[in-house]
Amino acid sequence: MEMKITLVPGDGIGPDIVHEAVRVLDKIAEVYGHSISYKTIDAGGISIDKYKVPLTDDALETAKASDAVLLGAVGGPKWDHVEGKLRPEKALLGLRSGLGLFCNFRPAVIYPELADASPLKTSVIKDGIDLLVVRELTGGIYFGERGRSDDGRTAWDTMKYSDAEIERIAKKAFEAARVRRHHVTLVDKANVLESSRLWREVVSEVAKSYSDVSLDFMYVDNASMQLVRDPGHFDVLLTENMFGDILSDEASMITGSIGMLASASLRNDSFGMYEPIHGSAPDIAGMNIANPIATILSAAMMLRYSFALTKEADAIENAVKKALSDGVRTKDIAAGGDFVGTDECGSEILRRLV
Ligand code: NAD
Repeated sequence: MEMKITLVPGDGIGPDIVHEAVRVLDKIAEVYGHSISYKTIDAGGISIDKYKVPLTDDALETAKASDAVLLGAVGGPKWDHVEGKLRPEKALLGLRSGLGLFCNFRPAVIYPELADASPLKTSVIKDGIDLLVVRELTGGIYFGERGRSDDGRTAWDTMKYSDAEIERIAKKAFEAARVRRHHVTLVDKANVLESSRLWREVVSEVAKSYSDVSLDFMYVDNASMQLVRDPGHFDVLLTENMFGDILSDEASMITGSIGMLASASLRNDSFGMYEPIHGSAPDIAGMNIANPIATILSAAMMLRYSFALTKEADAIENAVKKALSDGVRTKDIAAGGDFVGTDECGSEILRRLV
């Protein structure tokens, strides 16, 4: 297969962790007979320094012309004083909206070897955790009508969804469940919100086309409790934008390892943008101690969701698991013990790829 990938190394630890993911992708291409061409664009602080904007039109066009985007992270203290519209994080929004990405996949996985890093009791996570939060990205209260009364003492925000917006992301969630454990939980507030009642109607209708996937419903307040009480209940957790924003952060915290978690932003076709959930970690930039695993696992998600290369994605995920069970640790997950550098961690994963 031929793959055109746009790389967005960004700022801080971004270039180093993207470099390790590219080494892994190159090795996969070599072993499985694929060809990958890369174009690198600037986004975030580096783009502000060079072009005075967080994302240029040219950079966006390059991303649009590719099959998938792999992003490191953007931002850092150097640009903290920059005014709102020109902040580095605007590059992420520019990419997400410019590329039409409406669906966010955020897996939260606890590897048995790292169970101690989880703030949850061992008894709660004894069977491991492997859940996927599917969050709607472009609708809901963050994008609905908002305002203030003339005297400024009353304010409102509106949560609004159309059936089409719900249907397209519900399909993504059910497709994902099909290649996982065949279970979707719709998280909403249908006892109070009319928009949630529409979500239930539409998702129930979509479920009829996926008879191999079971569906249940959970109120968001209960879901936030179940994530810490019984996270094993969840396979695919589907939800609207704001609930997903909150629950996906909660889900990642229960794993205890921010340097290990990948994400994907998707749309209706196979195009996607893949990135670690962590930021540019300016406190450790340039020290060769950043954990590259979240970015390497983001590359695996890219192979799985944008290129349908299941075997290759499995190979990367298995190599990461093997490295962990053989005791390979970067500083953030070493619990005070021995650790390897960013590049060595990449090499250890490469060695276990096939
Ligand atoms: P952060 O995720 O960058 O760092 C939080 C803590 O986790 C730090 O102690 C950091 O050293 C550690 N950490 C993060 N990733 C790590 C890794 N791969 N390996 C080892 N340790 C890791 O969050 P922050 O400090 O709040 O933000 C720093 C900058 O990143 C800010 O400018 C922020 O705006 C930006 N940011 C960018 C993104 C993104 O690009 N998607 C996301 C979040 C924050």
